[in-house]
Amino acid sequence: MLTQTNQAIVRHVDKQALFEDICNIAVELGGLCMALITVLEPHGENCSVAASCGADPALLDVIPEHTLHEFGGRKEAPRTLLSGGSVICNQAAAGASDERVKGVLRRCGIGSFGLFPLYRGDSIFGTLNLYSTTDDFFGKDMVAVLEEMAGDITFALNTFDKEMARKKAEERLQKTSATLTAVFQATPLPVIINDLEGRVLFWNAAAETVFGWSEKEALGKAPPFVPKEKQGEFHRNLASAKSGNSLRGVEIQRRRRDGRLLDMLLFTAPLHDVSGRIENTVALFMDITEQKRAREHILCLAHYDQLTGLGNRTLLRERFAQEASRAQRAKRHLALCLIDLDKFKSVNDALGHALGDMLLVQVARRLEECLRRADVISRLGGDEFLVLLTDLERPQDTVRIADKVLGALTRPFSLEGHTVRISASMGIGFFPEDGEDFDTLFRKTDTAMYAAKEKGRDKFMFFRGEMDQKIRARLDLENSLRNALEHKAFFLHYQPQVDILTGRIEGVEALLRFRHPERGLIPPDSFIPVAEDSGLIVPLGEWILEEACRQLRLWREAGLTDLTMAVNLSPVQIFQEDFAGRTEAILKARGIHPGLLNLELTESIFMEEDERVHHTLLTLKKMGVRIALDDFGTGYSSLSYLKRYAVDEIKIDRSFVRDVCSDPGDAAIVLATIQMARSLGLQTVAEGVETAEQLAFLRAHGCDRYQGYLCSRPLVADALAQLVEGGHDKLDPWIPGV
Ligand code: C2E
Ligand code: CA
Ligand code: CA
Repeated sequence: MLTQTNQAIVRHVDKQALFEDICNIAVELGGLCMALITVLEPHGENCSVAASCGADPALLDVIPEHTLHEFGGRKEAPRTLLSGGSVICNQAAAGASDERVKGVLRRCGIGSFGLFPLYRGDSIFGTLNLYSTTDDFFGKDMVAVLEEMAGDITFALNTFDKEMARKKAEERLQKTSATLTAVFQATPLPVIINDLEGRVLFWNAAAETVFGWSEKEALGKAPPFVPKEKQGEFHRNLASAKSGNSLRGVEIQRRRRDGRLLDMLLFTAPLHDVSGRIENTVALFMDITEQKRAREHILCLAHYDQLTGLGNRTLLRERFAQEASRAQRAKRHLALCLIDLDKFKSVNDALGHALGDMLLVQVARRLEECLRRADVISRLGGDEFLVLLTDLERPQDTVRIADKVLGALTRPFSLEGHTVRISASMGIGFFPEDGEDFDTLFRKTDTAMYAAKEKGRDKFMFFRGEMDQKIRARLDLENSLRNALEHKAFFLHYQPQVDILTGRIEGVEALLRFRHPERGLIPPDSFIPVAEDSGLIVPLGEWILEEACRQLRLWREAGLTDLTMAVNLSPVQIFQEDFAGRTEAILKARGIHPGLLNLELTESIFMEEDERVHHTLLTLKKMGVRIALDDFGTGYSSLSYLKRYAVDEIKIDRSFVRDVCSDPGDAAIVLATIQMARSLGLQTVAEGVETAEQLAFLRAHGCDRYQGYLCSRPLVADALAQLVEGGHDKLDPWIPGV
């Protein structure tokens, strides 16, 4: 019976089936008339039959009552009755405690019975009730066997419980681990689990995307993303994890499959097995490459000029502080040099910003080439560069350096096929002489730079106290020029151009005048460079052309026909978009024949190897506009361009005419110019003729026309008209420069 019971226990995984089997075994093999198993409710108030075999229905009715009576209300095992807590009654007719039960037992022919408690843990779970028709069935040996049987059932119940608990735990675990896996696969952060050897056990989806290796490629091996030089660090981290340490956001570098390095924050934690031993480590990575780049970029923005890669004002200011204290200790000087490009605006306007930027970059490279490594070069923005010359033994040493810098900047620049010539103006202030702090020194340097500009560009100047005055005047001039166009403060004077042979006035040159609200008339030599720098020359130039054409039209209507009109052009105007087209429109609007317009250009514009300038000049020529070369002899005086652009006339500069009768050198130049022009088929116009002797010389050598005080100063339009009609003696025009 015991063997069969144990086999049943092993066989069954289900409690109910086991109970039924056991009841059958007891009846069939144990020689009992009835066997049943009851289940006691937790607190012992209730009892029900779970399984039975050979049961008499009348008896079954009283079983709960019977069982409860024997074990009633007792949760704890009634160990007092028998050693195993069983209740044995070998004289059922006499021994059963309850009268009603006793009656039923008797009627069913029960001689003896035994009730064996079944335990779950320390509580009674139920009972195994066995009934025999004979008295004294439950002898000592029998009880021992049956108690063992009950013990086996108890054991089975506990095993069932354990199994159930284990299953539940397993389910729970499965659920948790499924949740965790889902979380790890869903997170955008790479999560990796390594064993203590460093081999990858888990590699999530984010690890695939961020590092580039698939899970399959990564599993079972050392992580592929550790750069060679970081292997040591990796193993140190692993060792630290082995001893139970966690990392909380340590900055590391890891390699992507494509070789790119990633900056990351690493978080690690040890993973323990059930016994609490560290088994693996989990690592979580945050890619901070972009943030780091952005941080560095911001740092860079704060200190570096994006275009040229030079430092900016902030960086220079910081370096100044360091260099100043070093210079003081070493008893050396520092020089702060502010460099401003002279014609940058016209390059920008003419060639566009992209080429303008390119020029700035090339300027930066040239500055680097001609300065020492110890010097600090920065760009302030626009076309301004600030240089700190360090470790100067004597302030005078800067002269050589400034010469070198300005020299380097006047060498032509090549911008995508365009050759561009610029120059620079430079102001220099000394530490500690001109200022002990950066701001003071910078202000002085700035003042000096403006003074250099005023001196006529391509120059450097040292700071002197009185410069401030000049600067204010210049700023004021710039402002008043800006308002002048609206306030009609500009007007034109006209100077006659006289045919040397006939003495007839053939044309005029329009000369710009500006009346300053406080300072009165200002000579064009002083304000035109300012207008060019500020960009004002473009609208102003257009106004001049329009005004001159309007006047020419008025004169014609008044009967002064055939007068030519010479108009001076600033190089900036020629760089303008569609200058030729605008000129044509102005001529058309006034009905003026293009052959009457004479555009005066200086030599520098012809040196420009620029496609647009070239095109504009040729278009003007084709329209029939005449081109005059102004101030001949003062510039490069290269003749190749005279042919190339088919210049119509050459204006011999006043400086040669002035001493033509006393200086053989000037006389030779004037002579050579006239002859050269003749051979090229060009006309010559002499400027600044003041004396009859000068005129005689020019006439003798075949000069075509002249301008000058000998005939007339530049005049207002009405006065000019009177002069042409023959009555100029009474006139009192404004004399420039007097
Ligand atoms: P420029 O084109 O060489 O003009 C001739 C200058 O010589 C004028 O000075 C004129 O008044 C002066 N002049 C004429 N005859 C004599 C003389 O017999 N003796 C002396 N000592 N001087 C004489 P201004 O009007 O002061 O103009 C100076 C310069 O300003 C001009 O030189 C020209 O380069 C520029 N300028 C004048 N008007 C304009 C203009 O409308 N547009 C542009 N872009 N530049 C202009
Ligand atoms: Ca002129
Ligand atoms: Ca001139």
